[in-house]
Amino acid sequence: MSLINNSPIAYENLSKLNEGFIPSFQDKLQDFYKKGWYILGENVKQFETAFALYNKSNHCIGLANGLDALILGLRVFDFTPGSEVIVPSNTYIATILSIVQCGLKPVLVEPQLDTYNIDAKLIEHKITKKTVAILPVHLYGKCCDMSSIMQLAEAHNLKVIEDCAQSHGASCNNTLSGTWGDIGAFSFYPTKNLGALGDAGAILTKDEEISKKLKALRNYGSEKKYYNQYIGINSRLDEIQAIFLNIKLQSLDTITEHKRMLAKIYMDNLDKSKFILPKVEKDYFDVYHIFNVRSKHRDELKTYLAENNIATEIHYPLAPNRQEAYKHLWNEAFPISEEIHATTLSLPISFATTKEEVYRVIETINKF
Ligand SMILES: *Cc1c(COP(=O)(O)O)cnc(C)c1O
Repeated sequence: MSLINNSPIAYENLSKLNEGFIPSFQDKLQDFYKKGWYILGENVKQFETAFALYNKSNHCIGLANGLDALILGLRVFDFTPGSEVIVPSNTYIATILSIVQCGLKPVLVEPQLDTYNIDAKLIEHKITKKTVAILPVHLYGKCCDMSSIMQLAEAHNLKVIEDCAQSHGASCNNTLSGTWGDIGAFSFYPTKNLGALGDAGAILTKDEEISKKLKALRNYGSEKKYYNQYIGINSRLDEIQAIFLNIKLQSLDTITEHKRMLAKIYMDNLDKSKFILPKVEKDYFDVYHIFNVRSKHRDELKTYLAENNIATEIHYPLAPNRQEAYKHLWNEAFPISEEIHATTLSLPISFATTKEEVYRVIETINKF
């Protein structure tokens, strides 16, 4: 492959990504307009059934967004205020925010430098009498070491709430993310592997009582209209988003396969003497929400690629413990998280990215 053209390569192109799903969506909208049932109707129910089935879970609760999925996934257990929740030090801020919003204390644990996921070996030292839950994040679309995490949780009687915002369809040891723990919290934010046309989210759980309570919590805490058992919120999955998600879910495996195919091209061709590539492990099925490389010269690399018309992103530039809003919460150092934040760069790997584009990224980046 050669640099025959220099047209811009987008990091993401949502309109191109979704264009194939739009005709069926338009069709379904006609029924929707005719029926006039806008909130918690048949489309939400249908998606909940389909998403639970896809994940081999028992119950799915459709919600307004991924942050609410994490918040309600914690709130449903009525933990004592001030209780501690163990969470990786290198996650997207929503994970930390959900814990803080529930009046709980986020206790940060460093990730492994090669998987970017929470280091299960470091969790036990951080468990105290106040610990009530572990909140692993399957970052970039790769499952955490869930066998070890579940063992620890069982030994210490902790709940496990999985942040699956980046891991739709990812698994380890043939068990899907979101089905290991008590709660699997999903986001369908437009850029996620299963992305809606706006905000949307969901929880998976195998527990019927938890599912019933969550369905009440998302709807003002009410099971029966105008009778409130719990102090709930309004966080319902929108019918229109559910219509779209029902259509797109049928292609989630195709989306995943496309991303895995692009990831393999990157893995086979990127210069490993220059860049640190994602780790591939036996028994892990990674869905590459993000394909990152690490380099000591990350910022120069990003600029160099931009000069060659290749857009990249950084996930994420500033660690949670360094964020203005949260820095009072911790005074330890998190050197591994810092190292990842300082060196990581995300390359284009969208469902809308072509093989040819990936070859051009590779040819350009290897010359850096
Ligand atoms: C996107 C994301 C969220 C939040 O999801 P929203 O739907 O945007 O609220 C939470 N955690 C992680 C790891 C995410 O990537």
